[in-house]
Amino acid sequence: MTKPIDNFLDWLRDAHAMEQQSEKMLQGVIDRLEHYPKLRAQLQLHLEETHGQQQLLKGCLDRLGASPSLVKDISGKVIAFGQTVSGMFVEDEVVKAGMSTYIFEQMEIASYTILAAAAKANGDVETQRVCELILAQEIAMADWLKENLPELTFAYLSRSADEPSRASR
Ligand code: MG
Ligand code: FE
Repeated sequence: MTKPIDNFLDWLRDAHAMEQQSEKMLQGVIDRLEHYPKLRAQLQLHLEETHGQQQLLKGCLDRLGASPSLVKDISGKVIAFGQTVSGMFVEDEVVKAGMSTYIFEQMEIASYTILAAAAKANGDVETQRVCELILAQEIAMADWLKENLPELTFAYLSRSADEPSRASR
């Protein structure tokens, strides 16, 4: 029988792996973007937040005595989903990058909502606090994208009419 604490630790490790994947995807898009400085700056900001999130989650795992080597021993489910989304990330087109980032943020929002509840169920007030803090950052990032995706789409469409070679990135 799986104990609640085991589920909780698994999900915490999944979250840590998810943030490593987030880092790779954000960095990949940032490296490609040339003509969308506003999006690039926002992704850079979120990349820095993502580094902080990794540290916070690592701190929770350490405090709970989960061996760092086990951090890599993840279920793979989150990774599989992330790879589907990363497939869209690598597509050489800024609108797809915006869309896939938004989808990834929604996955993070769901993950931290669940993880905060699991932390609460385990009486782990510190991890609950960390998850709620990270959750607020993911919601802010998703909100920014939702606000800015129309403008990004307009910019892409008008640019692809005028200078198609520069429109994608
Ligand atoms: Mg994140
Ligand atoms: Fe995020």
